[in-house]
Amino acid sequence: MKTLDPERFTAYIENTARSVIWDYELIEPGELVVVGLSGGKDSILTLHLLSKFMKDFDFKLKAVSIDEGISGYRAYGIEAARKAAHDMDVELVESSFKEEFGFALDDVVDRYKSGCIPCGVFRRYLLNKTAFKMGADKLATGHNLDDEIQSFLMSFARADFRRFTKFGPKLDRIHPKLVPRIKPLWKIPERDVGIWAVMNEVDVHFAECPYSQTSLRAKMKNYLNNLESRRPGTKLSILQSFEKTFKFHKKQIEMGECTRCGEPSSLNICKACEMVEEIKKEESP
Ligand code: SF4
Repeated sequence: MKTLDPERFTAYIENTARSVIWDYELIEPGELVVVGLSGGKDSILTLHLLSKFMKDFDFKLKAVSIDEGISGYRAYGIEAARKAAHDMDVELVESSFKEEFGFALDDVVDRYKSGCIPCGVFRRYLLNKTAFKMGADKLATGHNLDDEIQSFLMSFARADFRRFTKFGPKLDRIHPKLVPRIKPLWKIPERDVGIWAVMNEVDVHFAECPYSQTSLRAKMKNYLNNLESRRPGTKLSILQSFEKTFKFHKKQIEMGECTRCGEPSSLNICKACEMVEEIKKEESP
């Protein structure tokens, strides 16, 4: 079996992310980039890379961690996030579902078919709200090539064509309070992120979320991994087909503001407020 040269492998990771930032113009000079830092390998690699590129691309860097309230799991991620931010001398701001909405994810998960449904809605909301308050020009997430094609195929399977506008390495600013997201790991497969973390002995939180196995994403991930092991290169081909398709679906969703909380929303009442109201209604005697 061929052994990997750590220096060459790290250079491949850095060069791939660097060219995504450059080719897709993810960052403008002077901007403040806030990294969504969960403490997992993808977000820690994103922080590592951006802290290395700060001078070259001339931007400032901060991070935000969200505690969803998943017992036996999230606390370890937050610990890894704090350590990474400290080691790289990056300011870290923390928010939690409990403080913002009055409940932890664990408290409400039974209402839904999958923990990922409420988690996704509330985390997206809180990440954006916190990053906006921090003055972020861009919100960098750790989405890798696998995450992107899983999301793409899930939307495809649900015929949810509106979501196609949310794909790609950079989202446009479609509302003054909606911080545009960027994905520096867009062309890096998940397996390579894991190899990078192990090879460089980086402290990351490797455990799987206890709710992950109930999601459609987990099934899609297994399916794609199977396909890739039989036909190497399939994942990259899907991303390339998607990139061509996505150019034809750039029409943006119109955004206004939620009449309850004032956060950006394409609906009168945003999904987070709608779900919080339902949960509170059920809780009240
Ligand atoms: Fe949230 Fe699902 Fe991710 Fe767990 S796997 S952190 S529930 S989105």
